[in-house]
Amino acid sequence: QLRRKRLSDQLRLSVDEGLRLALVDPLTGLHNRRYVNAHLSRMSDRARRTGHGYAVMLLDLDRFKSVNDTYGHGAGDEVLASIARHLRQSLRDLDLIGRIGGEEFLVALPDSSLVEGCRISERLRHEIAQSKITLPDGQMTQVTISIGLAFGGTRHDDPQHLIDEADAALLCAKGSGRNQVSLAQHTNAA
Ligand code: GH3
Ligand code: MG
Ligand code: MG
Repeated sequence: QLRRKRLSDQLRLSVDEGLRLALVDPLTGLHNRRYVNAHLSRMSDRARRTGHGYAVMLLDLDRFKSVNDTYGHGAGDEVLASIARHLRQSLRDLDLIGRIGGEEFLVALPDSSLVEGCRISERLRHEIAQSKITLPDGQMTQVTISIGLAFGGTRHDDPQHLIDEADAALLCAKGSGRNQVSLAQHTNAA
C-alpha cells in the first residue's frame, strides 16, 4: 500500500509538472500563448462587468535576428530571458506577461486607462532601450523593442480582436523606424 501511495505521489507530481509545462514558457518562465489567451478572456469578461478598461500591448524585439547572427543563439536566448526579467520587475503582480512567440511578448494591464497604457508602454520601451544586457560570455549588448498598444473594455470586443489591433499597431511602429510605441487606430480616448 505504501508503495502504491509513493507511486501515486510521484504521479501527482508529474501531473503538476505537466500542467506547468503546458502553461509556462521554459526559456523565460513567463506564461505561454495558451495561458495568455485564457487569461485575456477573463480580463475581458471582468472589464465588461466592471466597466474598467484594460490595455493590451504586443512587444517585439527590434532586429533580433542580428543579435543571433552577431553573438550566437545562446546569447539571443539570454537576451530574451533578460527582457522577461525586466518586464516582471517593472510591472505589477496583477499584470499579465507572456511570451507568445519567438521574440514577441504580450503584456495586459487590467483596470487601466488608455493614458496609463500609453505611459507604461513608453516607460517599458525607454527602460529596455537604456538597459545593458550581459551575455553569457561577458560581452554587453543593448536591444530595443517596438510596441503595438490596443485598449479594450469599452466596446464589446473579444480579446483576439484586440490582439489583432495591437498587432497592426506593432507593424506601424516597425514601419516608422522601430524603438517606438504605436497606438491601435480604432482606439478612442475612452
Ligand atoms: P524586426 O525588427 O522586424 O522584428 O526584425 P527581427 O530580426 O526581430 O525579426 P525576424 O522575424 O526577421 O526574426 C526574428 C528572429 O528571432 C529570428 C529567430 O531566429 C529569432 N528567434 C525566435 N525565437 C528565438 C529563440 O527562442 N531564441 C533565439 N535565440 N532566437 C529566437
Ligand atoms: Mg523582431
Ligand atoms: Mg517577431
